[in-house]
Amino acid sequence: MNFYLLKEKSGTNVLFKTTGEDYNRRKCGKCGGVQSIIKNPLKVQLRDDKTSDFYKMIGNNIIGSGIQDILIRHNFKGFKLSPIEIEVKNEERLLDKELLNLTRIEAIGKGGFLQDHLGNKVPHCDNCGTFLNILRISEGLSVDEKEWDGSDIFYFNNWYGNLIISEAVYNVLNESNTQNVRFINLREFSNDYRRSLK
Ligand SMILES: [Zn+2]
Repeated sequence: MNFYLLKEKSGTNVLFKTTGEDYNRRKCGKCGGVQSIIKNPLKVQLRDDKTSDFYKMIGNNIIGSGIQDILIRHNFKGFKLSPIEIEVKNEERLLDKELLNLTRIEAIGKGGFLQDHLGNKVPHCDNCGTFLNILRISEGLSVDEKEWDGSDIFYFNNWYGNLIISEAVYNVLNESNTQNVRFINLREFSNDYRRSLK
């Protein structure tokens, strides 16, 4: 089975405005890794001229009404939607009704621990799941289907914020005229850490 990571097609047009107070942080007593879970509505500033169907930034994903309709109409499982607070650069942007439809999407489905395309688990802290060596995931990724909970939309247990979709979701979204989404087959995941995780 194929699984796909969602990425933004264009360069980023969204600035992250959420601050430290909007997070709950937990530090792992074993490896020192910090997990930050957002507790308040996501705050962003949009810098584009036309509202997009998809935005991604630092562990957060935003979708427009087109993608929301598709996910709901097909009864796909494994996600929740929550409101966001939007700031715009240019007041005229406020006339765009689609702006009001933008919502944060978070996966609640669980994909198990991250593994490479050969099925080897990416080395991680056994307490909190943080990677010990990100470079080890340079050659494509795969899903351990024994650990995956079967959700159409999910995060890997230790790759929070990177939205993964099943082939069923991919087929529908790919056929739609959704703009600004790029689908990366996990098997072909790029080894450029900075570019890939954005
Ligand atoms: Zn840890």
